[in-house]
Amino acid sequence: MTENISVLGSTGSIGKQTLDVARMHNIRVWALSANRNTEVLERQIREFKPKLVCVVDEECAKKLKISVSDTETKIVSGTKGLQEAACVDEADTVVNAIVGIAGLVPTLTAIKAGKNIALANKETLVAGGKTVTDAVKKFGVKLYPVDSEHSAIFQCLRGCPKGALKKIILTASGGAFFGKTKEELKNVTAESALKHPNWNMGAKITVDSATMMNKGLEIIEASRLFDVPDEDIDVLIHRESIIHSMIQLKDNAVIAQLGCPDMRIPIQYALTFPERLESPVKELDLSEISKLTFYKPDYETFECIGICRSALRKGGLYPAVVNAANEAAVELFLKKKISFPEIAETVKKSFDEFKGGSLNPSPEEIIYTDAETRKHIFFDR
Ligand code: NDP
Repeated sequence: MTENISVLGSTGSIGKQTLDVARMHNIRVWALSANRNTEVLERQIREFKPKLVCVVDEECAKKLKISVSDTETKIVSGTKGLQEAACVDEADTVVNAIVGIAGLVPTLTAIKAGKNIALANKETLVAGGKTVTDAVKKFGVKLYPVDSEHSAIFQCLRGCPKGALKKIILTASGGAFFGKTKEELKNVTAESALKHPNWNMGAKITVDSATMMNKGLEIIEASRLFDVPDEDIDVLIHRESIIHSMIQLKDNAVIAQLGCPDMRIPIQYALTFPERLESPVKELDLSEISKLTFYKPDYETFECIGICRSALRKGGLYPAVVNAANEAAVELFLKKKISFPEIAETVKKSFDEFKGGSLNPSPEEIIYTDAETRKHIFFDR
């Protein structure tokens, strides 16, 4: 198990829960980062006394430098500072809890510095793909999934002999708009999209759950992590979020991982692997829940899953394009500049219009493609 970590995106939902786990198990925290949230960072600096903290925004970094000038923490800024935070010597594991493509470069930097990665930032694997998994192999580091579904699969696979896996069954809560028709989705608001039935998460992933883009991104993530093709990854709606995912073996036996919906379980497992330690998470009482329900996804109403599958099959830069288009569209939706159905429409348009490009892209090509995709979307608005 790890005893020394850095937490990128420490002010967000996953970042704060990671620090809960670190506090409980006396894991030393060496570096932290955020985009702008200096208020939460200051509290975290006073409690965890990290060696280095990065605030990406330059002005916010200046402000934080003044407010924590009585501490020994070094404050850095910008994307360069983020890379510094990703490779602080003393940390052996970097928890990447940044939202969006901004997590890609720090992940690669940490891998090159020989750090193990506890990865919540699914956009890294979606857009980065083989670039990331090849780097993991080349630098001999470990990549532990934090996403609850992928952590579940990772745990289930420990009971699976080599070559025995038939398929992965990713469970999905269905998000805020499960059961709604295309017509009903035309007028839903950002406020209602942000009300997730089971999880309290950052805004972007909560909207991704409502469009079911999140499940599409997770299909790509699962394919990258476990080297399984798209056709062997099923999606099953499970409203209660008790079964976090399953695997089916060649003999049709199914292995599932269950627990109360609380991200501290997968976060802790990524940090303490292969150990199982005490946790403050509520015990699962199935007699109290009494009923678990399952449904097939409505692929016609929630088109993003299908677009992500197509992007995965095309490979190369396609997943980076759909990821960038989605990030831009969610931003516009949250700013009330586009409607809910226009998120999927934007992603589809970017996918359809993309001309291809390298099948084995470099990080520079991925970042360039990401920026170009966004530019077209923002230019159109
Ligand atoms: P939040 O929005 O709650 O937090 C995001 C973090 O990233 C914050 O610390 C934020 O800083 C920082 N950040 C935002 N933009 C940038 C940027 N451009 N550069 C550097 N840092 C930035 O997100 P979540 O914690 O919900 O999600 C984080 C990741 O984990 C996502 O990829 C998500 O898909 C994944 N995930 C989340 C789950 C959850 O339960 N929340 C479950 C499974 C996966 P600031 O506070 O200053 O804005």
